[in-house]
Amino acid sequence: MATKALELLIEEFHKLPGIGRKNAVRLAFHVLGLPKDDVARLAETLLKAKETIKKCAVCGDYSEQPLCDICADEGRDGGTICVVEDGRDILSFEKTGTYKGKYHVLNGKLAPLSGMTADKLNIKPLLERIAKEDVREIILGLNPDFDGDVTASYLIKLLKPFGIRITKIASGIPIGGNIEFADSATISRALDSRIDV
Ligand SMILES: [Zn+2]
Repeated sequence: MATKALELLIEEFHKLPGIGRKNAVRLAFHVLGLPKDDVARLAETLLKAKETIKKCAVCGDYSEQPLCDICADEGRDGGTICVVEDGRDILSFEKTGTYKGKYHVLNGKLAPLSGMTADKLNIKPLLERIAKEDVREIILGLNPDFDGDVTASYLIKLLKPFGIRITKIASGIPIGGNIEFADSATISRALDSRIDV
């Protein structure tokens, strides 16, 4: 029978994504077996990350500076903005090494049934960027699943009046697949063969 404190620890791990009850138990016992200093460092690192990592004021990606490295990089083309669901997708696009534009992080995608409505997404700052900056093209780099498509359609409607080029990453990423797990060659191809919408 787990003690109350152990049960609470298991519960906390169980709340993490992808951690089932069995793994939560394993992690809890692992932590209990660690030297106290290691546990302190882990707790400290979690808190420090939460305190120091904020959102970039322009693109909305995580950053320790007011502007993230990509937004601050004047060598990158600010005229092209690739719209992604979250920062993990940026890592995937960056791995290709071929994309030289900038990004905008939506922080999710539309899923009204689970409460993810347009007002919860980082959309207004995107419209402000387009109005303010010299943007020529918006690339919709969303995952090719149902919610991703719904989000893309919604954005296309909003962006059309700006009269700029709007494209969608095309083939390559399998339907229902995930940009995060696609290999660099596939992402490069999807970017190169993007289609106008
Ligand atoms: Zn940024």
